[in-house]
Amino acid sequence: MILWRAMAENLTTEGFAPLRIKQVVRETCDAVSLVLDVPEDCSHRFRYKAGQFLTLLVSVEGRDLRRCYSMSSAPLEDELRITVKRDPGGVVSNWLNDTATAGSELQAAPPEGKFVLDEGVSATAPLIAFAGGSGITPIMSLVRTVLADSERPVKLFYANRGRSSVIFSDALEQLADAYPDRLTVRHHFDEDAGVVSPETIDSFAGDSAAGHFFICGPTPFMDTVENALLSAGVTKDRLHLERFTVAEIPVDAAETQDTEEVVIELDRKKTVAAYRKGDTLLQVARSAGLRAPYSCETGSCGTCMARIVEGSARMVNNDALDDDEVAEGWVVSCQALPTSPRVHMIYE
Ligand SMILES: Cc1cc2nc3c(=O)[nH]c(=O)nc-3n(C[C@H](O)[C@H](O)[C@H](O)COP(=O)(O)OP(=O)(O)OC[C@H]3O[C@@H](n4cnc5c(N)ncnc54)[C@H](O)[C@@H]3O)c2cc1C
Repeated sequence: MILWRAMAENLTTEGFAPLRIKQVVRETCDAVSLVLDVPEDCSHRFRYKAGQFLTLLVSVEGRDLRRCYSMSSAPLEDELRITVKRDPGGVVSNWLNDTATAGSELQAAPPEGKFVLDEGVSATAPLIAFAGGSGITPIMSLVRTVLADSERPVKLFYANRGRSSVIFSDALEQLADAYPDRLTVRHHFDEDAGVVSPETIDSFAGDSAAGHFFICGPTPFMDTVENALLSAGVTKDRLHLERFTVAEIPVDAAETQDTEEVVIELDRKKTVAAYRKGDTLLQVARSAGLRAPYSCETGSCGTCMARIVEGSARMVNNDALDDDEVAEGWVVSCQALPTSPRVHMIYE
């Protein structure tokens, strides 16, 4: 049934669809936007909310690699555009910047992610966004959407090393001209003022007590902004964070020494796999030859969610699941280390 549906919809069994690159826009010397055409028969699966991302599956030098990229377009633009910034030494971001051409195809899994506008947010609460470098991509989508769909004031703080790194410079100027009473954009350049300090964040956020805060950028930038806002009294429910990377936390294999086997249910088949110390539950599934779903492998996206129905596990990082889901036994399997002799998990 799943296979039949996938074939009818031009999807692979893992849910990837071929998207044609319609246009390549060079944003800066180290960032490129790709406008993607979605095949008609799976267009409903590629509808997205502002702030979400999709997963690309690319083959670079014989290796299949998956990477997440947020939409920089807004749903109201009726376009699907991602923006990719070069990561120094990074494989996929540089490959896309160097080789993406109009007319070629990319395999992509449909949009997902929780860095989205709260349904419950009052129609008047200001949106206060903090973007660092490539973190502007989902923020741009959120800012455009809020400006077009509501009367909410928007404040954007956008940090870059220098002026040449600013993505969407013209688009932001146009938005500021179009919404002079509702949009404030503050650029911060490390080359002038050094890295962003808590005092700078405080003075920008000001008395936006009722606002909702969206933060995306490099980890040290996000940490500074988050801590400054928390210290200023902003409550956690009004903070929304999207992490592109997480710090590698070394895993002590001894922690998992009691585990002997893992039972994995996937596509209604049950597999019993022997456990190798230090492996995450996703690695166990893969080593057993199973095509378990996954994407970012940082605990951010939730694609590899599985439910533990027997035994227990600890997540090294979890930016995808809320407390209720964790209490119900859900884990992001890419970050889950078993902590009981036997674990039974189900990919639902
Ligand atoms: C939800 C989400 C949304 C995202 N949205 C965007 C977006 O909109 N735009 C965007 O540009 N990015 C985005 N990203 C980040 C993106 O997915 C990639 O992580 C990024 O492009 C880097 O991938 P890469 O293949 O180029 O780098 P990788 O090859 O994965 O390398 C990453 C870094 O690690 C270093 N590295 C790699 N291997 C080693 C090693 N063995 N030892 C030491 N260092 C090593 C590299 O030098 C590099 O600095 C997003 C990520 C997530 C999780």
